Amino acid sequence: MKVLKFGGTSVGSSERIKEVARLIHNDEKQVVVLSAMSGTTNALVQIAEALYSKKNSKANQLISQLEKKYKQVVSELFSDAEFKKEGLALIDSHFNYIKSFTQDLFTIHEERAILAQGELISTALLHLYLQEQKIDSILLPALNFMRIDTNGEPDNYYIKENLERELEKYPDKSATGGLFITQGYICRNLYGEVDNLKRGGSDYSASLIGVAINAEEIQIWTDISGFHNNDPRYVENTYPIERLSFDEAAELAYFGAKILHPSSVQPAKLANIPVRLKNTIKPEDPGTLISGEANGKGLKAVAAKDGITAIKIKSGRMLLAYGFLRKVFEVFERFKTPIDMITTSEVAVSVTIDDTTYLTAIMEELKYYGAVEIDSDQTIICVVGENLIEQKGMINKVLEALKHFNLRMISYGGSRHSISILVNAQDKKEALNSLNGIFST
Ligand code: ADP
Ligand code: ASP
Ligand code: MG
Repeated sequence: MKVLKFGGTSVGSSERIKEVARLIHNDEKQVVVLSAMSGTTNALVQIAEALYSKKNSKANQLISQLEKKYKQVVSELFSDAEFKKEGLALIDSHFNYIKSFTQDLFTIHEERAILAQGELISTALLHLYLQEQKIDSILLPALNFMRIDTNGEPDNYYIKENLERELEKYPDKSATGGLFITQGYICRNLYGEVDNLKRGGSDYSASLIGVAINAEEIQIWTDISGFHNNDPRYVENTYPIERLSFDEAAELAYFGAKILHPSSVQPAKLANIPVRLKNTIKPEDPGTLISGEANGKGLKAVAAKDGITAIKIKSGRMLLAYGFLRKVFEVFERFKTPIDMITTSEVAVSVTIDDTTYLTAIMEELKYYGAVEIDSDQTIICVVGENLIEQKGMINKVLEALKHFNLRMISYGGSRHSISILVNAQDKKEALNSLNGIFST
């Protein structure tokens, strides 16, 4: 059984949806995970924001715009009059639901219910299109099996048990071939409310589903031919990497390579399920295979993670006393705020975080242990490769490439596969471009 996830651009138009239908099969067992059509989740965020700030006429205008787009998609997607009619009825029902929120009080839970509509619509459209094409498929509601716990982490046991239960409803299909279509990104929380796995979360859904059904492979179909050695949004002349290890891919995804959701590699790594990245526009391209195999020493790729805040706690008296770091870390733990980088000296410790929800409260508590300084608008640049730090001279190359920038922190030796450097956000693009030079030396 394989899991195939198609991202926003891959289902971004009627033509792209037709192409997805050509790429999937019901003669082998497949679970197809879809994102919302590109631009939809952003539009739904804007609608929810307008409703939240009680700008109902703006909300209505945005809703009408989006509805018009979907009606156009339906008219292009289906050729049969009956299917066009059913497609329009489907769009009507989702948009009537969204419009119902313009009449009432709007809360955060309703915002998430609105955000879920994108994936619910794209999967319903593909399912209906397959029916028109006389291709048998089954729509599996992700809200029946995908769940997060109180910490916002996936509840793997619940997911496995409930997904199995959903699949068992179709014993003949589950046993042999069978094309199952489900929504990425959306889930329920512990209270049963509609929630989500955060922006870009469809990759994470695919990986959690792959693990739950012990898939032979998780395929992430997107708009580029695999993982590139550098961020193609900021750097020209990047190239796709044929193979990456789980550890390399996990570091790159966590440290900002947008092609994969930051948490999506870890579950696959733990279950040892290969992840293949493929391009929907050029399906014949090899893409990237991410697996447990280490393949070739040396430099593989660079990624950058924005929105980082560095926090320095300076305390000559206490720093080296045992238990001091524990107390500092406990502050972050209490506020459920993960730390990305750490550096220490005799008199100070610096850490970075990207979630600043509780920054003020964290600072208040840290002041008890020393003087606290904050640097916001930082970017972590992460250089990744198999056994990278065992490559003599690698750090020299990295530092040489970055010699014109202020380096706020460097993390070396935490992982054998990566070197992380903290720079000012405004230097990110230039730093990534400058680092592209080390791939050819
Ligand atoms: P999807 O909608 O399919 O989930 P995303 O936009 O989330 O697609 O991810 C694909 C995009 O990620 C690419 O178009 C590219 O601009 C961006 N990207 C950032 N870093 C990398 C990288 N190292 N390799 C490939 N793509 C990357
Ligand atoms: N549709 C969601 C988003 O745009 C999830 C995803 O595309 O992965 O963030
Ligand atoms: Mg994505």
